[in-house]
Formats: sequence, C-alpha cells, structure tokens
Amino acid sequence: MSKFTSDYVITMKDIVREGDPILRQIVDEISLPPSEEDREELASMMQFLKNSQDPAASKKYGLRAGVGLSANQIGLNKRMFVVYFTDEKGNLHEYALINPKIISTSTAMVYLPQSEGCLSVDREISGYVPRYERIKLKAFDPKGNELNLRFKGFPAVVIQHEMDHLNGIMFYDRINRENPFKLPENVDIRSI
Ligand SMILES: [Zn+2]
Repeated sequence: MSKFTSDYVITMKDIVREGDPILRQIVDEISLPPSEEDREELASMMQFLKNSQDPAASKKYGLRAGVGLSANQIGLNKRMFVVYFTDEKGNLHEYALINPKIISTSTAMVYLPQSEGCLSVDREISGYVPRYERIKLKAFDPKGNELNLRFKGFPAVVIQHEMDHLNGIMFYDRINRENPFKLPENVDIRSI
C-alpha cells in the first residue's frame, strides 16, 4: 500500500512541484479493475480537494484551493485524477476518473480570462490557455465501471488541464510564447 490511504491527509508538502520529472512524464495506465490501493489513493486525493475548498480545513492544514488533482501531482505514476467544483450553473462536479481518454472535441475553443492555476506551480503566470469548449470523455470509476461523460465550458477546461498532467503537459506550455495574450488564429474561441 502507498502512504495515501483514505484516512491520510494530503497537504501541500505532498504536492509535487514543477521541475519534478514525474510532471513531464506520460504516466501509466491502471490495470482494471482498480485495486484497493488505487481506490484509497483516489479517496485521499478527493478529500484533499474538499479540504482545500473548506475554509476551516484549508486554514488548519495550510492548503491552497484546488479544483483538480492528478495522481502524478502526488508522485504516483498512474493515469487517474480527481476533480471537485461547482460550475457556473451551480452543478457540482465530483469525479474520480481512471484511465480517462478524450474521445472527441468541439472545434470551438474557450479560455479563462484570468489564465489557469495549478497546485504544482507556485508562481503567477498570465496568458490565455486555449481549450476545447466541449469534450467527450471515456473513463472508469473507482469500482471499474465504464463512464461516458460530456463536459462543456469551465468543466471542460478543468478536465483538459488534468488530462494534460497525465501526459506530462503543463498549462503554460499552451500559452503563446511571443505574446501570452495572443489567441490561435482561424479558430472560434471565446472567453468564459
Ligand atoms: Zn495542474
């Protein structure tokens, strides 16, 4: 068993920061059905996100608020991540996803006007990160059930940010190098 059992409290000291090679690696698929260890790790990752958004817990443990966390951000070479947030319509998105695959994307794109943030990046980065406006995703839940999910707008941005982590990509890799506020040309892209 790894140390990340379901009752282990993940804090910022467990979060791998940029510069660590595991954030630049295409991480390995998980064999199905998921193991007890995989499930426990996902449970502790999810609890971290909930703690990070809870004023009392985040103060107690000194956490930065996060909406998503990939397994390699706590040093695990596994294709899985968790997301936890409420979208602009008030819908809660709580997913622990295993071996996720983007199976289709829209041509239209979106970006967050304030750029993106990352628990593994301790500096302010400005610039636009183009993301697909809609994605379809296939993944497995912690019990090993196949899921077919669709995301649009902000939820789609969060999922693509976490998918990128599993492929060794940081959000700032997608910002235009010469002009961070330059958007891709000939693309239908808008701010959300
Ligand atoms: Zn990140």
